[in-house]
Amino acid sequence: MFEWQKARCAICGRTGQRGGLNQRTLVLDHDHHNGLVRGFLCHRCNKVEGLGRTLDGRFTNYRRWPPRGFCRSLFPTLHRGGALLVRG
Ligand SMILES: [Zn+2]
Repeated sequence: MFEWQKARCAICGRTGQRGGLNQRTLVLDHDHHNGLVRGFLCHRCNKVEGLGRTLDGRFTNYRRWPPRGFCRSLFPTLHRGGALLVRG
């Protein structure tokens, strides 16, 4: 999914890296209601998302159509028993 997002935050498009604990790290966001991953976000967007706030329509669109949904159609073998398995 990280590669599919082209190393960019799914909300603001800021580029980042996978792994590490600095401000450029993209973190794997998940839906707290069902536990399923949604996509990679930058620290800023992940913090706003975690607070349940909506700064603009991009947050609404992300919740409605997270990258997970697109990856599911592109990479159906990543799913086992309804849960998304995150790879590479
Ligand atoms: Zn962002």
